[in-house]
Amino acid sequence: MLTGAFNLFMTLPELTTYVAEQFAETYGRPPRWIVAAPGRVNVIGEHTDYNDGFVLPMAIERYAVMAGDHAASGKNVIQIRDTSGVDAALVDLSAPIKRDALKWSNYPRGVIAGFQARGIRPAGLDVLLHSTVPLGGGLSSSAALEVCMATLLEAATGRQLDPVQKALLCQQAEHEFAGVPCGIMDQFVFVMGRENHLLLLDCRSRQTDFVPMNDPAVSLLIINTNVRHELGNGEYARRRAECEVAAKILGVPSLRDADADRLEGARSKMDPVVYRRARHVIGEIERTLHAAEGIRAANWLTVGNLMYASHGSLRDDYEVSCRELDAVVEIAEAIGVKGGVFGCRMTGGGFGGCTVALVKTDAIESISKNIAVAYKRKTGIDAALFASRPAAGATVVQGQSLIAEAGAHTARGFHPRMVGRNDFTFAGNLLQRHRLRSIAARGHHYPEHTFINQIRARAAQPCGQQPVGRRWRAAALHIAENGHA
Ligand code: ADP
Ligand code: MG
Repeated sequence: MLTGAFNLFMTLPELTTYVAEQFAETYGRPPRWIVAAPGRVNVIGEHTDYNDGFVLPMAIERYAVMAGDHAASGKNVIQIRDTSGVDAALVDLSAPIKRDALKWSNYPRGVIAGFQARGIRPAGLDVLLHSTVPLGGGLSSSAALEVCMATLLEAATGRQLDPVQKALLCQQAEHEFAGVPCGIMDQFVFVMGRENHLLLLDCRSRQTDFVPMNDPAVSLLIINTNVRHELGNGEYARRRAECEVAAKILGVPSLRDADADRLEGARSKMDPVVYRRARHVIGEIERTLHAAEGIRAANWLTVGNLMYASHGSLRDDYEVSCRELDAVVEIAEAIGVKGGVFGCRMTGGGFGGCTVALVKTDAIESISKNIAVAYKRKTGIDAALFASRPAAGATVVQGQSLIAEAGAHTARGFHPRMVGRNDFTFAGNLLQRHRLRSIAARGHHYPEHTFINQIRARAAQPCGQQPVGRRWRAAALHIAENGHA
């Protein structure tokens, strides 16, 4: 039911309803488009991205959601209000877009500028943003915000970017507008993520491989330590430099090209700190590939042990953990497989933020309680915990999604030749009727997503060649081909 309140555990459909309501309250009319981008957690493969290695992230069931419509003012301004009450971002499209003093606005600014630079010029928009991805917790609320903005601009302009280009555009926004030299992992998993799959990403070739994780009996539990130690940024730059030194001594373009034997052979030529940094990276790349195999084989004990090994390496060799992260991992290890924990490790850059644990789904409640209590006892801090299965990437929830729906039906074997001329007339009428109804009700009583759900339900009915089922699918297909009714 619509309560006007939200909580952090809302499902995407619940969030969509909430954001649509909030949009209506803010702007006095229902939104035309609603889009969402998830958060992410990196299951394994830490500090490997800038060494041309592998990472294994998944999208999580936390979302940045944007509802939008053409600007009511008719002005060439994109106005983004945030439900958290921070100042609204106002992006004037008639002047060159620059970085702004309002820090958070730089993420969407960078994305809008990226579209313009690619010759796609959105018009003014009224936008409402709401996010359940914790800010600054290492689950990439920043990339969620970028990809969410990009997805809204795609819906609003009707111009779909190539997925890789979309991810790179968002990364560029983070580099140039937010001033954060991030890798490509977050934007890739947000653009390409699939439900029930992890994404094995080769940071060198940018090749992606989906790793199915279909077993509902296992989940990922994300534990936010709720601390962030400030030394992170300087240390990050230092680690990168140390990796470069190691690669140079090993005579390889990057640590991706080295292996354990080669490293041992060069150990005497290396500063011990640089040696340990390289040992982490080389070992972690291997662990990531093994973990992907383990997940494919549903070999949870192996995957869990690789996660513990990853944490140990990050703590001792790479030295990017901290007391609080170590505390969570120790607590998880003490609970053990009997208590439902297969493995646990810090995730993200380090010096605070989150850990991720591989757990039995039916033990989530007891594990969460135990970890929260023990962590509080050890550190005096309240942790935030939530579980997630691998979620889908960014989606258009309302608006253009009809096109994607139709694409899916086509992929499922519905061939355009099965559609007759009358079907297109039917499709046109159907949509026209929907539009008229929406206009009459100002979209309120018959929102577009209801219509989409209706089409989805009808098209999914196993009615084969029966005229009605065919016609519903034809309606979806028609829009897919023409972009309009
Ligand atoms: P992370 O990406 O791990 O969450 P970052 O420091 O990279 O941490 O990004 C957090 C920043 O992103 C916030 O400080 C804020 O500027 C911006 N941000 C992300 N989501 C939102 C949002 N929903 N509303 C306002 N700002 C946001
Ligand atoms: Mg970030």
